[in-house]
Amino acid sequence: MDILLPRTLDEALGLKSDHPEAVPFAGGTDLMVELNLGRRLPPMALDIHRLPELRQWHCRDGELFLGAGMTYSRIIRELPGFTALAQASRSVGSPQIRNRGTIGGNLGTASPAGDALPVLAACDAEVVLARDGGGTRALPWHRFLIGPKKTAIEPDELILGARWRIARGPGSFSKVGRRNAMVIAIASLCLVLDEDRHAVRVALGSVGPTVLRAPEAESFAAGALAEAGAWDDPAAPLSPGVLEAFGERVAASAKPIDDIRGTAAYRRHACEVLARRALRWALEDRLSGPAGRGARC
Ligand SMILES: Cc1cc2nc3c(=O)[nH]c(=O)nc-3n(C[C@H](O)[C@H](O)[C@H](O)COP(=O)(O)OP(=O)(O)OC[C@H]3O[C@@H](n4cnc5c(N)ncnc54)[C@H](O)[C@@H]3O)c2cc1C
Repeated sequence: MDILLPRTLDEALGLKSDHPEAVPFAGGTDLMVELNLGRRLPPMALDIHRLPELRQWHCRDGELFLGAGMTYSRIIRELPGFTALAQASRSVGSPQIRNRGTIGGNLGTASPAGDALPVLAACDAEVVLARDGGGTRALPWHRFLIGPKKTAIEPDELILGARWRIARGPGSFSKVGRRNAMVIAIASLCLVLDEDRHAVRVALGSVGPTVLRAPEAESFAAGALAEAGAWDDPAAPLSPGVLEAFGERVAASAKPIDDIRGTAAYRRHACEVLARRALRWALEDRLSGPAGRGARC
């Protein structure tokens, strides 16, 4: 196999345009498994892990841009204020995997169990793609992730990164697996409260062909906070049964299957429990004042 070693993004995009069959790799933590198991034998690979342009993040005009080459370890170190993103990053693999594995790789693999993906979905992220000649396009996450391990990327494109509007409000990521570390999610959930838009956003991983949102549950929770006057007064109590009803609605949005890691029924139950807990944590965080109120650069 030929390995292409570009030094700049422009060079990498040029090589990708000349050799669309070249498979890009950043950390290689997904690709190397495929190669070692003989599931994929590309004629050419494109090493993008050194490209400085992909290793950046910035906050600008109320938006976070996360370069595709950001590793989980760097996210944990450099973006601890983005609680849900940092929690998801902490839950990935082992320290070695977190030092190598990247956001771009999680997007490129597009596994329904990718831990970063529910966070991107709950944040309404766009995936930014580039091709040779300076052309870029941005796709909303749900138009990029189009099926299990299937994305809308074209053969001559690379993922530049993901970007989203920074929401003021608490958020969390949680995951159920067979043990506490080094585990593929049986179910995962990201919940984000958007204080400015009075919105609750919930995304689920590992319980459908790709990451899913739970729109009915989201409007129910936002409505319950509005009814209680809790958007303006975090101490206002919600009606009894709201957390439980929210959990049931989130579980109803899941489209799980039985597989070696868990049954569909267990996964639905896990979604219900994760959702209930995540909403309770968010409500508790709101009581702790501005410090508990979510993402900061
Ligand atoms: C032991 C182990 C444990 C793991 N645990 C977890 C876990 O807990 N949670 C989890 O979510 N994942 C886990 N993974 C999977 C993997 O680490 C993640 O999916 C990681 O984000 C992949 O990033 P990478 O940079 O290593 O991807 P790579 O292997 O380099 O690439 C993966 C795919 O994305 C494509 N790609 C990468 N970057 C780009 C780009 N910029 N543009 C276009 N295409 C691109 C590649 O062509 C390839 O198809 C684990 C893997 C291993 C081996």
